[in-house]
Amino acid sequence: MNNIAELKPLLLANTKPKIVITTHHKPDADALGSSLGLYNFLLQLNITSQVITPTDYGVFLNWMPGEKTVINFEEETELATQMVADADFIFCLDFNALKRINLLGDLVAKSLAKKVMIDHHLEPENFDDYRLWTSKASSTCELIYWFIQTLQFEHLVNKEIASCLYAGIMTDTASFKHGSTTPTTHRVAAELLEKGAESNLIFENIYDHYSENRTRFIGFCLNERMQILREYKTVIILVSAEDLEKYNIIVGDSEGLVNYGLSIEGIKFSILVVDRTSARKMSFRAKGNFPANEFARKYFNGGGHFSAAGGESKDTLENIEIKLKDAIKEYAAYLK
Ligand code: 5GP
Ligand code: MN
Repeated sequence: MNNIAELKPLLLANTKPKIVITTHHKPDADALGSSLGLYNFLLQLNITSQVITPTDYGVFLNWMPGEKTVINFEEETELATQMVADADFIFCLDFNALKRINLLGDLVAKSLAKKVMIDHHLEPENFDDYRLWTSKASSTCELIYWFIQTLQFEHLVNKEIASCLYAGIMTDTASFKHGSTTPTTHRVAAELLEKGAESNLIFENIYDHYSENRTRFIGFCLNERMQILREYKTVIILVSAEDLEKYNIIVGDSEGLVNYGLSIEGIKFSILVVDRTSARKMSFRAKGNFPANEFARKYFNGGGHFSAAGGESKDTLENIEIKLKDAIKEYAAYLK
């Protein structure tokens, strides 16, 4: 594995490298913010890179500087395929397993480009040539700032870069609440504010743009779909395809719903299952010593961080509910 500092001369070479930036499917603010933060940083080096997302993402991210240039692999498959094949470098941000980028994964694996992994999820695969990885970082956006610092280019960080990076730090830490928030996280955030990020506007852009439907949908789920298993200090929210249709739910609308479970006094584990067309998508959030990622991996082919994980299942909601309740019993020792 090469040191990422060695990328500096390669980025500054007279012949501009062809760079593709990609991130995990259904990108969130950390995934897209790190991608566009890097994109805007490379622009400062006179390099025009291409951000390719494996899928679409929520409209609450459309404000990010550079967002108009992003291409969605599912919509522009041919162009994206060509760019991945032709790239000199592919930056893989906020994921470390190729299956997280769906069909793009095979193309990235096959490309002769040097792969650069910048990520903070557990258990990275070995597909990269350069790596900036630690599961201790609050967010990939924080790591992008470290990357820029490592190259000694902080002076190039402008308002556009700062805004993208601040967004990912803010959301991945749940506004500086999670345990992953370190003194360094606050220092990086402070520097981003000094460089022009407007925290109040970024917060509004991300959190205050929900539709009326979405707000009513959250209320409905909390009223009608939330089960509290007091004995196991667990909350389960099961959302059917009909529920999604009834409230016209779009990508990103169920974001945050799982956290309501954990906000209830005494609850240590919160589970959200959403019946999407292709599969049932699961979100897990935990407190204390409950290993959400292990639980996700063991029963639902998933993974993630210790306290925030996800997974997928092709099973019906009914069967998932039964499986979940059995699995929780097996983990009862953590849920006392
Ligand atoms: P979310 O609940 O927000 O979709 O996901 C929370 C975290 O769980 C993500 O940051 C990611 O690390 C992880 N995650 C979500 N879905 C999956 C999945 O299907 N597989 C794996 N390995 N990790 C996932
Ligand atoms: Mn992240």
